[in-house]
Amino acid sequence: MRICKDHWSAMRMEIDRLGLSSFVAGSGEDAMARAERDLESHLEGAKPLVSDWDPLMAMNWNFCSRVMESWGLRIMEQRHQIDDGMPENGGYVCPLCVVRRDFDTHNTDTGRCGEVGCNIQVKPGTIPWDKNWIASCAESMMEYAVEQKLITRQ
Ligand SMILES: [Zn+2]
Ligand SMILES: [Zn+2]
Repeated sequence: MRICKDHWSAMRMEIDRLGLSSFVAGSGEDAMARAERDLESHLEGAKPLVSDWDPLMAMNWNFCSRVMESWGLRIMEQRHQIDDGMPENGGYVCPLCVVRRDFDTHNTDTGRCGEVGCNIQVKPGTIPWDKNWIASCAESMMEYAVEQKLITRQ
């Protein structure tokens, strides 16, 4: 699973808008090193360093695990079906594209996908789920930063 370019820049924009970009790792290596330290402290039962916090990576993990939770292994097994109708992404499934495709399937005149037994109904004017996920997740990053006194809310 890997977040596609469009969704990645949408995430970046939210992070920028909230003034959190200075916490994003400057390079891929930096991001990797932070993730490794995070994992180590997790395995040792220690608290991860606040200085290793990267809101963009945190959002990334959050989206991937949420989609993994609801899709489970189907995301691997039915790869060709999941990919159907989603933007090409170097052969990877983008969790936010999965969510967007689910939204689009239900964003019809009736607000339903037409599948028997599906109770999901999208009301007219609903913000697409992928956008909503990004906005609400970025907001919780902001809350974390304020809580950790990394930033003061303007
Ligand atoms: Zn995507
Ligand atoms: Zn449905």
